[in-house]
Amino acid sequence: MELPNIEEWNLNAVDFDDFSLDADQMVLAAVAMCQDLGLLRRFLIQPSLLFRWLLTVRRNYRDIPYHNWRHAFNVAQNMYAMLKNSLLRECFSDEEVLALFVSCLCHDLDHRGTNNAYQAKSGSALAASYGTEHTMEHHHFNHAILILSSEDHNILAEFSAEAYAQIVTLIKHCILATDLTVYFKNRNEFQEMTAELRDILQLPKDEAVKYLTEDERRELLQAQLMTACDLAACTKQWDIQRRVAYLVTTEFFDQGDKEMTELNLEPAAPMDRRRKHEFPFLQYKWIRDVCLPLYTAVGKLDSNLSQMAERAASNMAHWRREAEALHLLNEDEI
Ligand SMILES: [Zn+2]
Repeated sequence: MELPNIEEWNLNAVDFDDFSLDADQMVLAAVAMCQDLGLLRRFLIQPSLLFRWLLTVRRNYRDIPYHNWRHAFNVAQNMYAMLKNSLLRECFSDEEVLALFVSCLCHDLDHRGTNNAYQAKSGSALAASYGTEHTMEHHHFNHAILILSSEDHNILAEFSAEAYAQIVTLIKHCILATDLTVYFKNRNEFQEMTAELRDILQLPKDEAVKYLTEDERRELLQAQLMTACDLAACTKQWDIQRRVAYLVTTEFFDQGDKEMTELNLEPAAPMDRRRKHEFPFLQYKWIRDVCLPLYTAVGKLDSNLSQMAERAASNMAHWRREAEALHLLNEDEI
């Protein structure tokens, strides 16, 4: 198997083009990134086994507009680029890096294009199986374990029973963290933690790493990084951000249609096709209220990551101008 060159495919860039590779290239790129992180040698994972596992992971994403294999790959690539370009790689053990990378690839497995609220409202089989808290995320995690436990798919086969249990717990933590309700719960704590970093970053790198990885901060950092990778489309070049935003909305409108026709409910604004003219305003608010605070905090971890916040701010300004041109801003927002 000939692996691609990391630089040639721009895999180490946080502003990687989400649409630059085809479905097969993304599998090869995932192997190359794993190898470059030193995970194959460290955990005695055969490239052929990793390759088989990746093909099965890819097959277990559905052909839906946004939550598909490409999204999973892009989230993993973003984690890789963030780790490679900052002090974050030094914050985590090899086991944690493997867990973060595997979690990114698996975090939306078997997504059906409908969110947790829809599972609850429709009383879906998934809500019945997993309850109404983190419904989809529990499903993605269980699906990941199902694949790992299939014959000739256990990339963690060399782990002792105890180490296996630990890494599976960590993968669960990371996948559940991609539920935005977890991000909102952690948000203030993360802001406080990064606010203190202004002085910490003046310190030698090893002391900054020590601060970030003290027990109570470690899990918080992992969780917020998962969200930062999951939402990273808003930190990309404008044409990529715009294209992804339309894909997300296509999927949202499909859910809104189901809510109207099957459940006789009024969909929320982002899912209501009849309100599609509000789209630039909703995107502007999404970046302003949800994404930008996250990337501003992430930028405080390491100056190499601050370009993510800069790009998010510039994309927000783009959406704002579009919204303004369509007279969608309230008077107090102009
Ligand atoms: Zn996702």
